Amino acid sequence: MIVVMKPGASKECIQHVIDLVRDYGLKEHPIYGTDRTVIACIGDKRAVDKGAIENAPMVEKVMPILAPYKMASLEVKKDVSQICIGPSQFPIGGEKIGIIAGPCAVESRDQILSVAETLQHAGCIGLRGGAYKPRTSPYSFQGLGLEGLEILAEAREQTGLAVVTEVIGVEQVESVAEYSDVLQIGARNMQHYPLLEAVGKTNKPVLLKRGMSATLDEFLLAAEYIISAGNPNVILCERGIRTHESYVRNTLPLAIIPALRERTHLPIVIDPSHGTGHAYMVPSMCLGAIAAGADGLIIECHPDPEHAASDGAQSITPKVLSELMVKLKRVAEAVDRQL
Ligand code: PEP
Ligand code: MN
Repeated sequence: MIVVMKPGASKECIQHVIDLVRDYGLKEHPIYGTDRTVIACIGDKRAVDKGAIENAPMVEKVMPILAPYKMASLEVKKDVSQICIGPSQFPIGGEKIGIIAGPCAVESRDQILSVAETLQHAGCIGLRGGAYKPRTSPYSFQGLGLEGLEILAEAREQTGLAVVTEVIGVEQVESVAEYSDVLQIGARNMQHYPLLEAVGKTNKPVLLKRGMSATLDEFLLAAEYIISAGNPNVILCERGIRTHESYVRNTLPLAIIPALRERTHLPIVIDPSHGTGHAYMVPSMCLGAIAAGADGLIIECHPDPEHAASDGAQSITPKVLSELMVKLKRVAEAVDRQL
């Protein structure tokens, strides 16, 4: 159920409704929009007297929520959420498009500091790099762990970029949150519910990747886990799905951008690197994603892709990225957005 307040409702009126909602044994999630506040009410609504809440001062209407996901739904918030990341609080969502890039894995201090400098000059807002890598094979490089987090934090200090890094287990949430600005939940963990709840209890924005065989509803319900645990700052990331095709590593469905925009206020980021698996395809998919309405991109970029410890084939070089940024700006302007 959603309680829609009239524009200009005072703090006291909003608190009064929250108290009523609690009296009915429901949990309130107020969402403060630009011109009005709505209060999503989660719990068993059978005993609720909808009329009593409707009669409270400054309540415009009380409506059922139809989507299976509630807090993530456009029904509770009509304007796209803007989520600010990193020490400079760069916004993603709304008019602003945010570009995040960096290698698949943190391999060394030199690698990260050199790539971070290029990204900063090119106009990126975030540095990505995995300190903990969820690898398909237990024999593949698993990441530098804590040392990797320290290197990322040093790069942030030098460049002001927001650090985006993956957390693969509940036990690491605290330390990864301490060193990074955005917690990435990888595709393989999209339905790792205790992990979703754990990142939902932090105050760090979460970049939630779509599982490789998850449906759109399952993706939004995973976001709902994080939001309902208390963290509204969820950025959705499409990273490609498994299909019968073999010319790509994963199939990148850009149609998910308008489909999500119809259903959710959460910002949408596209990962064209995992979404294709081939560096030569990445620039076209980046341009296409921005044209299709993405709020951001997360791109694998490595100073020496041929020697990358992971995902070299899909990593573009800093030079390609810098040239691409110029084109992305032009496409963004063509669709009335800013980079
Ligand atoms: C990654 O971002 O490097 C990664 C492991 O991605 P995904 O979870 O999408 O496979
Ligand atoms: Mn990768």
